[in-house]
Amino acid sequence: MFIAIEGIDGAGKSTQARLLVRWLDQQGRSAVLCRDPGSTDLGEEVRKLLLASRHQIGAKAQMLLYMAARAQMVDELIAPTLYKRKAIVVCDRYVLSNVVYQGYGCGLDPEVIWQVGQVATGGVMPQLTIVLDLEVHTAQQRLQGPRDRIETLGQDFFQRLVEGYRQEAQRHSHNIVLVPADRSVEEIHQEICQLVQSRLLHPRKEDS
Ligand code: ADP
Repeated sequence: MFIAIEGIDGAGKSTQARLLVRWLDQQGRSAVLCRDPGSTDLGEEVRKLLLASRHQIGAKAQMLLYMAARAQMVDELIAPTLYKRKAIVVCDRYVLSNVVYQGYGCGLDPEVIWQVGQVATGGVMPQLTIVLDLEVHTAQQRLQGPRDRIETLGQDFFQRLVEGYRQEAQRHSHNIVLVPADRSVEEIHQEICQLVQSRLLHPRKEDS
């Protein structure tokens, strides 16, 4: 099973992804944690390139760089984990991040980004995507040094991301689920465990 954790910066993705992997291990289910971009040598290099503020990278180039890193991660890590080891993958961000950030945030066509995502991943997509839904100001308060990021990208940008995640969850309600994230780490973790449990115990055909 392939699970992605999504949401704006500071929503709690890496916290919840780590807890979910630990819980799955406790259930006797082998699970691998990965982060997108990253988790491969190429991915970590691309991550550095994208996050280095000295580069001015246009939205389309950004999206394609993320996709290149992701293609490598699918080949090296995700596909072997899912199909050879038959283990669970929990990924901190995936294609939906590009749909929301470069699509809703920067004005590229979300549908085109989904299509590029299909090509980059060879159709290896999560059965379940959990979006940690949080208002911008709460997420910013959680981040250290939030000013830098807000000043660079602006409040409106992050608001478009929140709306983008909500719209995509509505459009793909069969596999993208919003989880309210303005709660304690433990409460959110419990809800995520229940969601995953119900999918693991009662998988639809395409989820197994
Ligand atoms: P993301 O990966 O989405 O950017 P993180 O998991 O790194 O978010 O969390 C950002 C910050 O907020 C961290 O300092 C983390 O400890 C804190 N945090 C995460 N979840 C919660 C929560 N539910 N309530 C309060 N603080 C949280």
